[in-house]
Amino acid sequence: MADTKEHFWDPVAGFGVTFRTMFKKVVTEQYPFEKKATAPRFHGRHQLNRWPDGLEKCIGCELCAWACPADAIYVEGADNTADERFSPGERYGRVYQINYLRCILCGLCIEACPTRALTMTNEYELADNNRADLIYEKNDLLAPLLPGMEQPPHPMRLGDDDGAYYRGLGASTRDTDEGEVPA
Ligand code: SF4
Ligand code: SF4
Repeated sequence: MADTKEHFWDPVAGFGVTFRTMFKKVVTEQYPFEKKATAPRFHGRHQLNRWPDGLEKCIGCELCAWACPADAIYVEGADNTADERFSPGERYGRVYQINYLRCILCGLCIEACPTRALTMTNEYELADNNRADLIYEKNDLLAPLLPGMEQPPHPMRLGDDDGAYYRGLGASTRDTDEGEVPA
């Protein structure tokens, strides 16, 4: 008899849950039509940064690759020359790849980078329908050229010497082999 009573009230209890839920705030997210902002320090896609004159901050040292626990980074450095300068130092990253099939977005690589060339953005849409497109090349990772920046290769445009350049003491007024330094 007790069993029959319990079974009688089961559907009523079930509909009660449904009825209560109808008045709760809807939590459905409309992604990808409505994208939510991430936390400011969210670890998303990497970015290879530039100096204010457009030269690349990466010096091709490979420290990021060595720090990576997932073996997701591949770097090949090369020498800058008098005719072709990509970074202000002796070396630059000629080849730079990050394999997002391996990357766990842990951030150890950006901690290892001595020049702050490598940082992480908040971009999290890193899916694709084939493996090859998830290996990002240097051109996919380089920061965009902002106003006042120049596409490398070009000579160092900031300051009269290396010290002034790295301390960000502003644009120099000296002439370079490519003409007047931009203000
Ligand atoms: S975020 Fe972590 S896993 Fe991804 S490339 Fe950097 S060190 Fe490697
Ligand atoms: S991103 Fe940083 S750590 Fe990696 S090769 Fe370039 S300078 Fe070195």
